[in-house]
Amino acid sequence: MKKIVILGSTGSIGTQTLDVVRAYRDKLQVVALAAGKNVRKMEEQIREFHPQYAVMWDEKAADELKRSVSDTGTQVLCGMDGLMEVSVLEDADVVVTAIVGMIGIRPTIAAIKAGKDIALANKETLVTAGHIIMPLIKECGVKLLPVDSEHSAIFQSMNGEPKKRIEKILLTASGGPFRGYSKEQLAKVELKDALKHPNWSMGQKITIDSSTMVNKGLEVMEAGWLFGAAPEQIQVVVHPESIIHSMVEYVDGAVIAQLGIPDMKLPIQYALFYPDRLPMQQKRLDFYELSSLHFEKPDMETFRGLKLAYDAFYKGGSMPTVYNAANEKAVSLFLQQKISYLEIYEIIGSAMAAHTAIASPDVEQILAAEAWCYEFIESRW
Ligand code: NAD
Ligand code: MG
Repeated sequence: MKKIVILGSTGSIGTQTLDVVRAYRDKLQVVALAAGKNVRKMEEQIREFHPQYAVMWDEKAADELKRSVSDTGTQVLCGMDGLMEVSVLEDADVVVTAIVGMIGIRPTIAAIKAGKDIALANKETLVTAGHIIMPLIKECGVKLLPVDSEHSAIFQSMNGEPKKRIEKILLTASGGPFRGYSKEQLAKVELKDALKHPNWSMGQKITIDSSTMVNKGLEVMEAGWLFGAAPEQIQVVVHPESIIHSMVEYVDGAVIAQLGIPDMKLPIQYALFYPDRLPMQQKRLDFYELSSLHFEKPDMETFRGLKLAYDAFYKGGSMPTVYNAANEKAVSLFLQQKISYLEIYEIIGSAMAAHTAIASPDVEQILAAEAWCYEFIESRW
């Protein structure tokens, strides 16, 4: 029995992780769940999965949850202290990091130090603190298993291959709902349009990030850390059907890819049972029906978010933190309809231009760079 903690259990990845648990109750057991403020959903999950602990980020939500589940054996915790406590539970084997945003840094580091394997969905953590997390993974002898579909595909395409023979990583991107748009067309984009992804159903923040291609930018850096690749070794390939989830090209020219229907349950399940593969009740790819797949070069002039990510990646140090934090803030302003769509790029670009990167920031310095970035944006927008 593998015992799991899910940080972000009420979200898109969190609920799909629980779908996997539901299918494999004889192999997976939930010991703790954590979420932001959705009390109703958390209560449902507690009654179904009986975790020892449940954490709500929001204090009021925690109080409300405490009252509503007082008849169960689940202990309710709150805030960062709660997240830290469940990340290091003696009983847990693996922590699924499905929180959104760089708030995941501290719990992830604590979990690694406590010897837990990490199933990582929370890419913002790796983008901002990869230089801390990757060596720590090695030092603590734990596994870091990617949940992001592209990174799971890359990971699967590397199975049994010599790492030193990799020439490049081909990171696929759907191109989002605005693929092919001009700058003039992007300027007119509204919130409701940006919230419609053609192939995937995901949380709001990553849906916006996919439309701006900032998500792909974060994934370039995520791949850099996970697979020890330099920016020039990672090539983004737009592939609108999202059937090829990513590929690896080797020195002899061979390209190995992982394909499948777009469904996050597969990478989640693969991360939870790695190195095994267990059956999944799911639609299969039908190549007769597919007939053709398409590929394009990304338009980084129009979708500046991807270009800025490469700039941040080359610069390194605290620059990826500023790229990420500026985007988190900009997306939150866009979701509140306080800024226009193209201002997302403007905000990221000006925060990066105003920031002097420091090399190898520690956690305090990463959080300080985030705070600086928020202040910078708040004073101007
Ligand atoms: P979501 O918004 O659907 O869910 C986020 C979850 O985190 C919710 O349960 C929310 O309550 C919780 N949460 C938010 N802030 C919290 C806090 N401060 N403390 C505790 N819990 C908090 O997001 P999502 O789409 O599931 O994405 C989660 C992460 O996975 C992101 O980093 C995203 O980039 C990554 N990811 C998602 C997908 C996907 O298909 N949804 C695919 C690849 C990677
Ligand atoms: Mg992805």
